[in-house]
Amino acid sequence: MRGEALSPLDGIPIAIKDNLVQVGEATTCASRILEGFVSPYDATVVERLQAAGAVIVGRTNLDEFAMGSSTENSAFGASRNPWDVARTPGGSSGGSAAAVAAGIVPLAFGSDTGGSIRQPAACTGIVGMKPTYGRVSRWGLVAFASSLDQIGPFTRTAADCAVALRAIAGHDPRDSTSIPEAVPDYAAALTGDVSGVVLGMPREYFETKGADPAVLDCVHSAVSNLEKAGAKVREVSLPHTKYGIAAYYLIAPAEASSNLARYDGVRYGHRAASPRDLADLYHRTRSEGFGPEVKRRILLGTYVLSAGYYDAHYRKAQQVRTLLRRDFEEAFRGCDAIVTPTAPEVAFRIGEKADDPLSMYLSDVYTVTANLAGIPGISVPCGFVRGLPVGLQILGPLLGEATVLRVADAWQRRSDFHLQRPPEIA
Ligand code: GLN
Repeated sequence: MRGEALSPLDGIPIAIKDNLVQVGEATTCASRILEGFVSPYDATVVERLQAAGAVIVGRTNLDEFAMGSSTENSAFGASRNPWDVARTPGGSSGGSAAAVAAGIVPLAFGSDTGGSIRQPAACTGIVGMKPTYGRVSRWGLVAFASSLDQIGPFTRTAADCAVALRAIAGHDPRDSTSIPEAVPDYAAALTGDVSGVVLGMPREYFETKGADPAVLDCVHSAVSNLEKAGAKVREVSLPHTKYGIAAYYLIAPAEASSNLARYDGVRYGHRAASPRDLADLYHRTRSEGFGPEVKRRILLGTYVLSAGYYDAHYRKAQQVRTLLRRDFEEAFRGCDAIVTPTAPEVAFRIGEKADDPLSMYLSDVYTVTANLAGIPGISVPCGFVRGLPVGLQILGPLLGEATVLRVADAWQRRSDFHLQRPPEIA
């Protein structure tokens, strides 16, 4: 262009999850309750991506308000996995993951509250990263659980992810939880060299009941490959892992019940017709507007925050959260990064877990702990089981994005799983 220096994102078509607001565009969060809502402002990430020259070509499907692990809980219908259209792409950012996996865009963005970037990346054979809590501004991300939510990229490679993350990261005075620390040049950290890097394998993550042994095999073989490349592998322990899901499913719904109180039929989107009085307006607007999973979470969250139960449930979950955070602090004293499976199994069939929320919740068993602790994590393709992609999760200490990306990139330079294309799309 007229001899001007281009940014690495100039002219790149991108897609964003439909819970990131964009001026003049409808933001639905895949919910009927936001019917008719058009955003009057841009999310910080939208602003930064557009300033870098990226072109937003679409807004992607999600589980309603990002609650789910399959992108089936959407008022607009389920998203499908390009590797097998009878299966889900994972969730809740399944639309963004599927768009990259299908080759529609090279870069898309999602949000990760308990795994919603990493798990769909694993299910669709691409790279997905959740940065450190506060690394990326949440201004303009529709809030689900504010102390857990983070925005992050979907790409094919860790190298692209490094460029995308740099474009969106950094302090934002409009988000009081955003970190003032300068953003490093992540791409410069990708040396391909892992010699001397200590990788911790948390014992508890490889003993999870219900995990597919074939998935664990793929992870083991990726780790041995990194060991051959010079990394040192060490067993570590994260003793409170087994309480992660329980703590997450108390804290996330508690925050959601409070965040979603704003959808009252007055301020945004859907409004019930001819209400009798204010209570009737609230009641009918919310009954008509929210889907079943969102209602379940609001009920659960309101219950655990209620006076008589707060100490037994919510306070306990917060205490567990502290223990999980300390587990990671302790483990990172002895290693640079932690390697685990991203999800306990490959992409499941559409409808398979729709009537069994508890089994759906277990899809997040390896991912929720990073959100509770605030640490960064990435999922990179590390194999196939019955023709379906498997993800390797790499976790780092707070603000350890460069290390996480460096290990992920080193692995991708030594493997070709990310080069394979879904058969029907190749
Ligand atoms: N699947 C998890 C949930 O339903 C995580 C969702 C997310 O990360 N947005 O809460």
